[in-house]
Amino acid sequence: MIGVSEEAERAPPGVRSPAAPPSPLDQPIFIGSEIYRGSSYGLRHPLRHPLRVPRVSTVMDLARAMGWLSPANYRGAPRAKPAALHIWHDPEYVAALQAAEAGLAAPGTLAAFGLGTLSNPVFPEMFRRPATGAGGVMLAAELLRAGGCVHVPGGGTHHGLPDRANGFCYLNDPVLGMLVLRRAGLRRIAYVDIDAHHPDGVEHAFAGDPEALLISVHEEGRWPFTGTLDADGGGNCFNLPVPRGFNDTEMRAALEGLILPRLAAFRPEALVLQCGADALDEDPLSRLSLSNNAHFEVVTALRPVAPRFLVLGGGGYNPWSVGRCWAGVWAVLSGHEIPDRLPASARSVLEALDWVGGGRPPPAAAMIETLRDPPREGPVRPEIRERLARLARR
Ligand SMILES: [Zn+2]
Repeated sequence: MIGVSEEAERAPPGVRSPAAPPSPLDQPIFIGSEIYRGSSYGLRHPLRHPLRVPRVSTVMDLARAMGWLSPANYRGAPRAKPAALHIWHDPEYVAALQAAEAGLAAPGTLAAFGLGTLSNPVFPEMFRRPATGAGGVMLAAELLRAGGCVHVPGGGTHHGLPDRANGFCYLNDPVLGMLVLRRAGLRRIAYVDIDAHHPDGVEHAFAGDPEALLISVHEEGRWPFTGTLDADGGGNCFNLPVPRGFNDTEMRAALEGLILPRLAAFRPEALVLQCGADALDEDPLSRLSLSNNAHFEVVTALRPVAPRFLVLGGGGYNPWSVGRCWAGVWAVLSGHEIPDRLPASARSVLEALDWVGGGRPPPAAAMIETLRDPPREGPVRPEIRERLARLARR
């Protein structure tokens, strides 16, 4: 019972009531919010922030256009109360975030907490939006207490630190969700991260914890420059940095050679997947070359691994590729076929998107007409084989 908000208080009986034994979710649940539609990381940002583009709202619109969301499987994310965030975040930092949103934080206070920078700008919803992301993930963790599957595409802010903003992340919802799972009495929790960036905030929280297993596949030599091959976090962290051009076949090699065997040996009671979409070929912030088939394959392979499966979003800065990827992830989780060609209602969602400035090229026609990318298979390069072999020897 963490009391994320009044909305959470109205969750169905049996989910939160201590009197009734919880029962597993009878279907996958999607947690979204309208806050993503009306907010952006500062359209006035001098360098046009990568998170200016719509993402979660696109996923929701696509899924609704496809008939994949209904009142039975959709929940609105509650906004986490400050006290709920204090299970990991410093109260002084949470207070500074609220003050900054209200325009009441002094410049020195902003600087002390990493706020008001190019990466972590001051913007009108800078507390409410991340607190809603955190509330959605914490609600998901509560819903999963007895088992099931929940998708929270607004979650996945894996760089957040206890006492400061970091890498576009003001709060760390994966950490908060994992702590809620712990509070529900679950011990062995696995976290898998396929974002292009290393999850330094999550590793900060759980490195050295023998009851947490952390696996990350991310681009080598890219910010935050942590997560090198030898960085084992005291033994429970497995980091696979990959070179630019990383393809679907190479992700399959990582899945079969690293992720699935480690998960099988660990036997997690709950599994969290950070499903960042910035390792896709079209993403402007990384040099990796996955198609979204790689994401769908990872989600499909991980679904049966643990009785509780929490799928988050993460990075993803091309509005077409991120929306298509996570809508497709929800199709996979909820058991819907992805059609070869989208109906007009879904195409119109993709046609209405733009880069919100920034001079990027328009999307290829297939990015409007389909959800599934053409596969991007290729050779598994020797350095990836060598790194997988080295991790397998640990
Ligand atoms: Zn990322």
